[in-house]
Amino acid sequence: MELTSLTIDSARSAIQERKTTAVSLAEWAYRKIESDDPTIGAFITLSKERALAKAAEIDEMAKKGEKLAPLAGVPFGIKDVMVTRGVRTTAGSKILGNYLPPYDCTAVARLETAGAVVLGKMNCDEFAMGSSNENSAWKPVRNPRDISRVPGGSSGGSAAAVAADMALATLGSDTGGSIRQPASFCGVVGLKPTYGRVSRYGLIAFASSLDHIGPLTKTVKDAAIVLRTIAGQDPMDSTSVGPAVPDYVADLEKPVRGLKIGVAKEYFGEGLDREVRAALEAAIQKLAELGCEVVEISLPHTKYAVPTYYIVATAEASSNLARFDGVRYGHRASAARTLSEMYRRTRDEGFGAEVKRRIMLGTYVLSAGYYDAYYLKAQKVRTLLTRDFDQAFQRVDAIVTPTSPTAAFKLGEKVDDPLAMYLADIYTVTANLAGIPGISIPCGKTSEKLPIGMQLLGKHFDEATILRLAHAYELAEVQN
Ligand code: GLN
Repeated sequence: MELTSLTIDSARSAIQERKTTAVSLAEWAYRKIESDDPTIGAFITLSKERALAKAAEIDEMAKKGEKLAPLAGVPFGIKDVMVTRGVRTTAGSKILGNYLPPYDCTAVARLETAGAVVLGKMNCDEFAMGSSNENSAWKPVRNPRDISRVPGGSSGGSAAAVAADMALATLGSDTGGSIRQPASFCGVVGLKPTYGRVSRYGLIAFASSLDHIGPLTKTVKDAAIVLRTIAGQDPMDSTSVGPAVPDYVADLEKPVRGLKIGVAKEYFGEGLDREVRAALEAAIQKLAELGCEVVEISLPHTKYAVPTYYIVATAEASSNLARFDGVRYGHRASAARTLSEMYRRTRDEGFGAEVKRRIMLGTYVLSAGYYDAYYLKAQKVRTLLTRDFDQAFQRVDAIVTPTSPTAAFKLGEKVDDPLAMYLADIYTVTANLAGIPGISIPCGKTSEKLPIGMQLLGKHFDEATILRLAHAYELAEVQN
């Protein structure tokens, strides 16, 4: 069987029913990677031995007729910011070029316990900083829908691998849109859960109050299956919290009729591409046809979201990345004569330009003279942005927005203009600042056949409602 025609759900059943084997699916994936990935660049490291051993274990269970776990035999990719025991984990950075972690990220461990077969580690922007994957220290990723274009970022490899059938599903991380925006550029489903819903233990930190782990998949149901597996409190992450994890998969079938969907004018203003707007308007119409009530709302502080995000995120990054000093992890500069020279050289050689820019920005906004004017102010605005959502969610069950103002842009188009790159994060960073869940699903194509993404935002810990809406929309689209 080929991954092309499978989802998580159908792959697991096919293995259970002995129509295929986990080993043959993994081998198919590796052949596909061998033939297509030299062009796409989605993988940094392959973990063949670990994958084939796991797959053989699953096949053994299937042979004995045991009931297989929900992800049994599913070929998975893991963004290279999540640590994997004994499998090189670089965070897309030279500074971790040879890093072999001594433990597994909780989300990865939970996937494997549920039977997933980890094929390897996915390319990404260095330390997840970027929106195009062009900040990877290793190689850029190309968008499988049009290889002259970026796949989005920072989870570009995770999105591209699913779009190109090199994996059935992947994990990404999302600090300001890094799951949802690449999902929209590559035409797949990407889910950022509520802050605290999924343990961040073993996720290499970028900005700890904004970082999230979530799935990229072909279908909404697959996203629900993965979330159900990785969600829930973890004693190893004190920010992971406890509301019981619902059965997201069973909840998909609940009706959507009568749900109230908010449309905020602030997400349909200047800078939104004409074709993206038209696709969103058609999608909103479709949700109305499904019986949802469309309500106009306002999220008045949206215009401050990008500057607020780039202050909070860089401040936290400057602190988190202080641990890469050549002493405990990865690269260490040779030929330094003093300790401080060793630190400086290690960081100069190990970090790329965008990471250095962010460390400098973050150090600046935290410095004694500017702390109140920038960092403290940004924290206050963050509260206002969160309050905007709290108020809106008193009136609606979910909010619909574009995921990104444009479809995928060309490689090289924005690399020399970091500000333009940052501004394009406008529709995704708000959910990270507020900690609310968001999902991006495909909603049509541009005239150049590039995928367009619709984002659904939900209340804290109410992933079930946005998944249900996304699922209903996806089914309606398929039937068309
Ligand atoms: N594009 C945003 C940034 O560059 C978000 C990245 C992310 O979510 N990891 O910071």
